[in-house]
Amino acid sequence: MKRRKTPSKEKILAILKSQDYATSHEKIANQIDDINRATIYRILNQFCEDGIAHRIIAENGKQFFALCKDCEAEEHHHNHLHFQCNTCEKVECFESEINISLPNGYVIENFNGLINGFCNLCSSA
Ligand SMILES: [Zn+2]
Ligand SMILES: [Zn+2]
Ligand SMILES: [Zn+2]
Repeated sequence: MKRRKTPSKEKILAILKSQDYATSHEKIANQIDDINRATIYRILNQFCEDGIAHRIIAENGKQFFALCKDCEAEEHHHNHLHFQCNTCEKVECFESEINISLPNGYVIENFNGLINGFCNLCSSA
């Protein structure tokens, strides 16, 4: 069983690693013929649980996945903003962390901050 599972994971991870920007589930699925979409989705969810990747939900409900830099399983600790370009539709992670002060007793588990606009390439075109 493990033999079958690991290459799929590695394949998907390799795609995530090869992209400079967050990658949509759709785009990953389009690059893989031998793994079905549901399995790809399950693996991506696992990556999110394992602290390997995080999910960004775009305006239209599309899901994008980006690699985490130094998260651990069950513990994401970034709250950076994401930017989606209205023209080329790419989604990228911004490096800078933002500080959010929450009322006492509130704990952040996921932060999906998304800005829409035009990226540096599209705004000058
Ligand atoms: Zn993370
Ligand atoms: Zn753009
Ligand atoms: Zn991100």
